[in-house]
Amino acid sequence: MQICNNIGTNKNGHLTFAGFDTVALAKKYGTPLYLMDESKIREKMRAYKSAMKAYFPDGSMPLYASKAASFKHIYKIASEEKIGIDVVSVGEIFTALKSGYDLATAYFHGNNKTDEEIEFAIRHNVGHFVIDSIGELEAVDREAEKQGKIQRVLLRITPGIDAHTNKKIATGNVDSKFGVAIATGQAEEFAADALKYKNIEISGYHCHVGSQVFDAEPFVDAVDIMMDFAHRVKEKYGYEPEILNLGGGFGVRYVASQPELDIKNSIKDVAKVLYRKCSELGMNIPKILMEPGRSIVADAGMTLYTVGSVKEITNFKNYVAIDGGMTDNPRYTLYDAEYTVITASKATLEPKYRCSVVGKCCESGDIIQENVHIAKPERGDIIAVLTTGAYNYSMASNYNRIAKPPIVMLRGSEDYVAVKRETLDDLIRNDI
Ligand SMILES: *Cc1c(COP(=O)(O)O)cnc(C)c1O
Repeated sequence: MQICNNIGTNKNGHLTFAGFDTVALAKKYGTPLYLMDESKIREKMRAYKSAMKAYFPDGSMPLYASKAASFKHIYKIASEEKIGIDVVSVGEIFTALKSGYDLATAYFHGNNKTDEEIEFAIRHNVGHFVIDSIGELEAVDREAEKQGKIQRVLLRITPGIDAHTNKKIATGNVDSKFGVAIATGQAEEFAADALKYKNIEISGYHCHVGSQVFDAEPFVDAVDIMMDFAHRVKEKYGYEPEILNLGGGFGVRYVASQPELDIKNSIKDVAKVLYRKCSELGMNIPKILMEPGRSIVADAGMTLYTVGSVKEITNFKNYVAIDGGMTDNPRYTLYDAEYTVITASKATLEPKYRCSVVGKCCESGDIIQENVHIAKPERGDIIAVLTTGAYNYSMASNYNRIAKPPIVMLRGSEDYVAVKRETLDDLIRNDI
């Protein structure tokens, strides 16, 4: 059984992705190659959108956390699917703008927005800023006044939930570099302060509990804590939020041992608690925003590589080296991220060969995955790394002056280039 329903094998013994023969795609476009299944991206966006529409108040909506994969075409898809976006830099804002995305439904995040970024975002009418600190309020207010605008904002609050352990920990995330903590009392001061600025209008609150969350629990805890907080602010200062943004972090199945997230039922569970909590507190029910990033694009992606050297160190280990590595997927190097690896050109053979799949960079840590079992490859075979749609292209670098791979999108029976392969000339473009 494959980890996602867009993966299979064909009569040539090749791995298929979204119905395409991966070996044929590798031949057509060269390797390394990022593939993206456009139907899967749209399916995920629609799943969030319809569940949120069904269970949350009108105006609730998913925002695609575009740091997971940011390029013009993905914003075009978000625009066509009528969902919001979360952006974290002027570069992401610029990319969205150039794709034709209407920035009214963009939410500008980041713990350290520069004055230049604030100026740019206000000038291009980014709908909301997610304000991360008291000092940022002042900077945004000043710029909004200069441009004669009222900037709508959410306040980023740290609820003190550690999603990785699925437990409320009173001080758990208080020391995060993001947001302002409830536990220290500073979040209330933050809200009180925000209400004073003439060129800022607060729409509500934001929180983000972590990543790889597979059930509703951390979001349910977040609703509980955030609505209690909102209630205290209402009692003290008379302000009630129109929006509650619960952040992202929905889990993705990278390997078969991980579960598959039930988007609809998770959202239903969160909604149940939201309605109950608001009625207990006598609060209006806020519109809910959620910011799925990886869960929208991860399993819509796959990376193909060509095998070069196969090195067997007698009595130690086997290395399979591919023509990419940490430059196109730094996630194992960064945090031991798990991936499923398959010999795409021998996809129906028993995966019995134990090896470490490594890249071509001059770093011992340049590893795609350690100790996986794949069909034994030889030079020229195609290797597929699954579920690479999130945080691969967006984290890619040019280390060792390696050019970034292209992104080829698969839609129905059509395959097309969404991002071109970098050329040698691209690599020296800014060298004087
Ligand atoms: C990273 C991030 C997300 C998206 O997280 P995923 O794990 O990709 O869903 C959403 N919101 C904020 C504020 C983030 O920092």
